[in-house]
Amino acid sequence: MPKGGVAYFSAEFGLDESLPIYSGGLGVLAGDHIKAAADLNIPLTGVGLFYSKGYFQQRIDEDGAQQQLYPPIDPDASIYPVQLVRDAEEKPLVIEVTIDGRQVYAKAWSVQVGSVTLYLLNTDVDSNSGEDRRLTDTLYPSDPNVRISQEILLGIGGARLLAALGIQPDVWHMNEGHSAFLALERIRTLSAEGVPFETALEAVKASTVFTTHTPVPAGHDVFPIDLIDRYFSHYYWQLGTDRERILSLGRVDGAFNMTRLAVSTSSKVNGVSKLHGEVTQDLFHRWMPYIPRQDIPVDSVTNGVHIGTWLADGMKRLFDRHLPSGWAVRTQERDVWSSVRDIPAAELWEEHQRAKSEMVRELDLPIDMSGDGPLIIGFARRFATYKRALLIFRDLERLARIVGDPQRPVCLVFAGKAHPADGPGKELIQKIVELSREERFKDRVHIVENYAMDKAKKLVQGVDVWLNTPVKPMEASGTSGQKAAMNGVLNCSVLDGWWVEGYNGRNGWAIEGATDTSADLQEQQDSDTLYRLLEEEIVPLFYKRGERSFPMEWTNRMKESICSLAPVYNTHRMVSDYWNNIYVPATARGRRFVADQFEVASRVAAYKQFIRGHWSAVHVRKVDILDDHSSRIGLNKVAFRAEIELGVIWHKDVRVEAVGSDGRRGIWKAKLDPVQQLAKGLYVYEGVAPSVPIDIWKANVNVRVTPVSPDFASDFEMELAAWGGVPCPS
Ligand SMILES: *Cc1c(COP(=O)(O)O)cnc(C)c1O
Repeated sequence: MPKGGVAYFSAEFGLDESLPIYSGGLGVLAGDHIKAAADLNIPLTGVGLFYSKGYFQQRIDEDGAQQQLYPPIDPDASIYPVQLVRDAEEKPLVIEVTIDGRQVYAKAWSVQVGSVTLYLLNTDVDSNSGEDRRLTDTLYPSDPNVRISQEILLGIGGARLLAALGIQPDVWHMNEGHSAFLALERIRTLSAEGVPFETALEAVKASTVFTTHTPVPAGHDVFPIDLIDRYFSHYYWQLGTDRERILSLGRVDGAFNMTRLAVSTSSKVNGVSKLHGEVTQDLFHRWMPYIPRQDIPVDSVTNGVHIGTWLADGMKRLFDRHLPSGWAVRTQERDVWSSVRDIPAAELWEEHQRAKSEMVRELDLPIDMSGDGPLIIGFARRFATYKRALLIFRDLERLARIVGDPQRPVCLVFAGKAHPADGPGKELIQKIVELSREERFKDRVHIVENYAMDKAKKLVQGVDVWLNTPVKPMEASGTSGQKAAMNGVLNCSVLDGWWVEGYNGRNGWAIEGATDTSADLQEQQDSDTLYRLLEEEIVPLFYKRGERSFPMEWTNRMKESICSLAPVYNTHRMVSDYWNNIYVPATARGRRFVADQFEVASRVAAYKQFIRGHWSAVHVRKVDILDDHSSRIGLNKVAFRAEIELGVIWHKDVRVEAVGSDGRRGIWKAKLDPVQQLAKGLYVYEGVAPSVPIDIWKANVNVRVTPVSPDFASDFEMELAAWGGVPCPS
């Protein structure tokens, strides 16, 4: 019986620190996704790469310089069972891909996570040349040749591995664009069976979904066209179409963009928070400027974290005592979490103190924990510059006053790795080390080496406040703050990513996050807000004791943080959302497209080719706006009349709409209907717009024609729209 379900492809997976094949949030999220799928019994198979040396171990030397060590990974050290995958004859299973004209072989490791299997490809096999054996040594190599080789192995090799194992997924999920070549390999397989290219593309698209993770354009893989030519010259013809058509799937600004390829070959695209969904629409709008940002088909599924992995053991025991039984599998139920309010405040505080002391001990922090210890603020994440690790150091004197009060001491703990090729990231580490040596910060600023999942656990469980200061809106979601929140650690964060949705005014603190101004001004405003919050709210609240021996109001905030955030920002909720809104519809769509010898796929392919071939004849010839002056309050009904030329395209195959700006970054649309045929292929359309303020519609309104089909996954699946003379509103 071939196994169906979801194939989940990712370039990195963070399951446990003992398997260092992840670099940061993307990998940890993928690991948490796998664990939640296992918890929820969702049929899912993971596919990734086994990096022989993994992501580096970080040492920070005397001068604050980052050293990178690459000890080989020992699969036996993993807390998860890791095994070499064998074929029916018990020989190691080997798959083969062509890379730059060479046959490259790869073996696979399997990692068992409950009911879910994760397969990881690795090229360190005897039959490969020395150089090819090293292809999968490390994550995110800077050399584009190694990078594209890894992505060919992940996408094409990964699809071949599943085929060799007899796994026929219903849905293929690309977690980030690194794996997007898998779509080409699936088309190639269908092409070899005689399915024409456009039909194969539709079949593949119907069952493929794509999650994009970064609003930073530099975070998207882009390869020069000649590099694609070099690696795919043997491959183009096998797809049953010409080179130009294949390149068109990924071409942006004269280069081949993996995010574009993923979008072109998926029926559903999502960002990882509501705000990130919108930012992604902005990003893709640049590729199709004739489709308003708001209409770009991008959804969002906000990230979550795996509670079983990130919640401190002591907190688990506390919840076992005070939450309804079965809470650990009922993590999406708000009622279950609201029982956190009934936990005696002193007990919650004590449990947090235990986690805090354990962190100080385990991470060997020179922090005096007598009494309740100082207020400890944690900042741990990759040292990417947009995360602005130095924001809190912008005004050194002000910071020194905040942390240096002997009555109310404050400590800052930093941790994080900079990508080996990221010079500016490494400088951040150096700067923090330097500052931590200054007399005024000596006992107040600490840096922890080698940030990985083990260190992350201690930090998100043990600090009092979790600080997050990215440049808004660069943090697609962020997840470390979610880990902190469920442990009763209070977030103080720029209102970016998930925090825009999570913050409710009582469960932490928000830094509004200046946007649309110079980087310098943004820093100025955001750091001012941060200092003010520390001075006026955070430090006083932490040290406020009243009659009790612990801070009652602070503990209430901790409760609010857990109750309001834990039920939402966990991976059970997240994977349930993927299941209901993405996997189930894509399964149905994929099956429908291939049923009866690809009937629907070939129909959609033929339809699209017809529309594309005749679209240049579609014009909005004349638009009349008929203002109805009956209203005196400035809200007018507006009627539209437009002459639309459709050529040979049938009027039922298009939608004609008036579209206008609502003046609040949104748009309104009004459907127009055909009322008269003036000549062959020439129609009059009419319709009435909703009541909109006069000044707004007059400023920015237009009529557009788009192709429609009940078989399309979204209204703009063809990325086509014909407008009247003026540009599209947005
Ligand atoms: C959770 C986690 C991250 C992600 O943190 P962000 O909030 O997205 O910056 C990165 N690295 C490790 C080791 C983590 O555990």
